[in-house]
Amino acid sequence: MHEASLVSALCDQIDRSIAPHPGAIVRVVHVRVGELAGVEPELFKTAFELLREARSCKGAALVVVAVPAEWRCRACDAALPRGGILECAACGGEARLAQGGDVFLDRLELEVPDV
Ligand SMILES: [Zn+2]
Repeated sequence: MHEASLVSALCDQIDRSIAPHPGAIVRVVHVRVGELAGVEPELFKTAFELLREARSCKGAALVVVAVPAEWRCRACDAALPRGGILECAACGGEARLAQGGDVFLDRLELEVPDV
């Protein structure tokens, strides 16, 4: 399952993020999932619920924010209309996916114990 490997990578990233905060508890994980990332949000949540139990984000809630795909011109950075436009109308530059193509950790809500 594609989602499981993404969640596993996400947990690795969470481990690294909380490493400087010993004893911190991850309460909420905010993730941005691109429209074209090839991820099914429900499968992603299910994979997270399974994998988190053995990880530092055990018991954390997951908030998934959908990110719509946005295309821009590689040359002049003009916003291009959606729907398979491969060339910029203004300069003929190549289209690039400016956002919506990946999954990334947006932020974590941590509970840091007083010591
Ligand atoms: Zn252009």
